Amino acid sequence: MAVSPPLCARNPDTYDGDVSKAPEPAETPVRNVETVDDVLSLVREHGGRVTSSRRLLLHALFDMPGHRSAEELTELVQAQAPDIHLSTVYRNLEELERLGVVEHAHLGHGPATYHLSVGAHGHFVCEECGAMLEAADELFAGLSATARDRFGFEINPHHFAVLGRCRECQEAAQG
Ligand SMILES: [Zn+2]
Ligand SMILES: [Zn+2]
Ligand SMILES: [Zn+2]
Repeated sequence: MAVSPPLCARNPDTYDGDVSKAPEPAETPVRNVETVDDVLSLVREHGGRVTSSRRLLLHALFDMPGHRSAEELTELVQAQAPDIHLSTVYRNLEELERLGVVEHAHLGHGPATYHLSVGAHGHFVCEECGAMLEAADELFAGLSATARDRFGFEINPHHFAVLGRCRECQEAAQG
């Protein structure tokens, strides 16, 4: 079966018209979720099933922290269980996002990357060399306050990277 990965799991346009499939925001705020077992008990609490694919995916997320595309995560999972397909990994990632355990971010032109919501952050990405800096939420505090006051708009600094030029590339450009 061909898999058409959603460019953005939060964009209803990437769904096939069935709104019941669109992810909904997590019902409860993220609490301390530090181990695979913590996540699995959260999944159970929300009526989700603990499947072996889900367990392997969580191990991949915990063991190899960073910014991994669904394809990369699938490779990690398939090293343990070759019969688990990309489409299953996408379904699991969507459910884990609904539970507030996983977030995805668009860091540039490539595929979305996923990481655990624990320690979530924004990203600065250099448009020239692709370097990525993790940007703590406090960096967005001023923008968040201004956007709320002037537009009643609540920004989400995690979803898309802020693009620009890193220090090294600026220095190289200056010669
Ligand atoms: Zn997205
Ligand atoms: Zn990140
Ligand atoms: Zn750069």
